[in-house]
Amino acid sequence: MKSYLTHLESSVTDTKVDADQLNTVCEESGKPLLARYDLDAVAQNWSKDDLVGRPETMWRYHEILPVREEKNIISLGETMTPLVHSPRLGKATGFEQLYVKDESRLPTGTFKARGLVMAVSKAVELGVKKVAIPSAGNAAEALSVYAARAGLECYVFMPKDAPVANHNVCRATGAHVFLVDGLINDAGKIVREGIESCGWFDISTFREPYRAEGKKTMGLELAEQMNWTLPDVIVYPTGGGTGLVGMWKAFDELEKIGWIGSKRPRMVAVQTEGCAPVVRAFETGAEEAELWENASTIAGGLRVPYPLADRLILTAVRDSGGTAVAVSDDDIITAMKQMCDLEGLMPSPESSATLVAAQHLLKKGEIKPEESVVLFSCGTMLKHVELMGGPELPLLNPHGDIDYSQFA
Ligand SMILES: *Cc1c(COP(=O)(O)O)cnc(C)c1O
Repeated sequence: MKSYLTHLESSVTDTKVDADQLNTVCEESGKPLLARYDLDAVAQNWSKDDLVGRPETMWRYHEILPVREEKNIISLGETMTPLVHSPRLGKATGFEQLYVKDESRLPTGTFKARGLVMAVSKAVELGVKKVAIPSAGNAAEALSVYAARAGLECYVFMPKDAPVANHNVCRATGAHVFLVDGLINDAGKIVREGIESCGWFDISTFREPYRAEGKKTMGLELAEQMNWTLPDVIVYPTGGGTGLVGMWKAFDELEKIGWIGSKRPRMVAVQTEGCAPVVRAFETGAEEAELWENASTIAGGLRVPYPLADRLILTAVRDSGGTAVAVSDDDIITAMKQMCDLEGLMPSPESSATLVAAQHLLKKGEIKPEESVVLFSCGTMLKHVELMGGPELPLLNPHGDIDYSQFA
């Protein structure tokens, strides 16, 4: 196994830093660091044919992933996720080529696994023993399972109203679990202020440079699944933005090694009406987002009042000719049921938010019915089944007479 990782680079200045040391953010700007590879050497030494026969996991792209030694990969089997063609859902909503990238198949049921397996593997490679994370819930859960597998000591901090599945899986892993009477940014402050005295390595979104590299594999995989072409539109539920930024970076790297052309999908960042810092910045033409006060939405993964990667997210959206859309919680719940009812998919609220956004854009003429559209379904409905409840279900008495006319 070989990685062509060369160094890390600031996302705002041209400062380079050593990738074989532990790093967090760019020291001057406080903004994210991005991993860089020797792409000329990759282009010379790696071809699409090399992928034939490699296991169908995200590690098949190890040349442009940051882990150097195979023994450091703390894997639970990060499978390639299916790109599910959804003709029934497409027909009902007006899309001729609708696909759902179903990320719920990954360990812990969300795409957080891609980022956290990378962060933990790289932390192991660089000698980290104790990790800490502020999280809306799913990242904490993913970190805690990989930390358990790696034998790292793990501290997780999440909002008290995060899904109980998140709280309790973290407990089961033996992580030190703390609830915060606030949101992910409040949890982040607690972690940052404890780093020195507690000896934690901070795994926060974009304060840790390699989670985005894990999420980058969504873009690599999508390109491979579409036979090295890309869809017209990608609709992505954006909290911290690791996936959106990671995929945008993936496409850039694939073009530089000559595997795809210059055509890019329009990147659509989806948020909710109760927490839309990226949408507000996009609409006002700002380069940076501002803190969203009193953030509130059922889509916990999108309840990120201030994304550190604001500039990177906005650049990807704008350079791609895409847009940013805020949707309502009520529409999200309706769309969860619709995806389940018409295609058997089991999306989390963040996932179905993409369908709502795509429908808004179709209505406004910003997506054409014949364009190919990929929705990212980033997590499983199983952590949110309470949202799918309804009136009391009929209860049958197996010892009495069943009235079969009721089934007609
Ligand atoms: C974290 C999360 C998101 C947001 O992902 P980012 O790449 O950080 O923007 C969306 N949906 C779910 C289910 C999540 O857990």
